[in-house]
Amino acid sequence: MIALSGIERVFHVGGEAVHALRQVTMTVDSGEYVAIMGPSGSGKSTLLNIIGLLDRPDAGVYRLNDIDTTQLSDNDQALVRRHQIGFVFQFFHLVPRLTASENVALPLMLAGVEPAERTSRVQKALTTLGLADRAGHRPDQLSGGQRQRVAIARAIVMEPQVILADEPTGNLDRDSGNDVVGSLEALHERGMTLIMVTHDPALGARAARHIRMIDGSIT
Ligand code: ADP
Ligand code: MG
Repeated sequence: MIALSGIERVFHVGGEAVHALRQVTMTVDSGEYVAIMGPSGSGKSTLLNIIGLLDRPDAGVYRLNDIDTTQLSDNDQALVRRHQIGFVFQFFHLVPRLTASENVALPLMLAGVEPAERTSRVQKALTTLGLADRAGHRPDQLSGGQRQRVAIARAIVMEPQVILADEPTGNLDRDSGNDVVGSLEALHERGMTLIMVTHDPALGARAARHIRMIDGSIT
């Protein structure tokens, strides 16, 4: 489903070149549960951003479901991202003045889903994440773990094939972190492909497969 080949990413900062990814080649099959691990600065987020079509490689080919994404326009990439990829970030990235259900509804609004359909899909996603009774709460009225579960509900409301999570527990205490990973694993058990970046070895060990990065390369 996901096939990267010879991916390179170089950032230029004040005349210096930072080689964030070097010749990264990997595949992930539909339904896999993969942990990406490695020290800070090793390129984990850069890799996940490229897989999530939030960033483009400087060289190499990235095929998603046999489509060469590097040939797609920004608009077409955005469409693929909206329908096929759910992204979960370390710092939740919820809109503070919107309620949980309004945050979860955002991708549906962008996709032009009708209000009635929107309401039922938001409710379903929030229920899946055990948040039905928090639908009207704003992020500041929720715990960290609940915020991240709202972010996961938002990530799955379009029913993507793959969930990408970048240090989803990095900002949570251990118990909330375990809840959040449990929620992600439950989605995986229902068939979603799950790729999670973590530098917590105990969490990484739960994945079926491990990809280790050092200095921009997969080891
Ligand atoms: P990790 O997620 O493993 O901590 P990152 O992928 O965030 O690592 O970063 C890999 C390297 O690329 C680091 O040296 C980082 O400083 C650099 N980097 C990442 N994003 C940018 C950016 N937008 N501009 C410049 N350098 C960046
Ligand atoms: Mg990172």
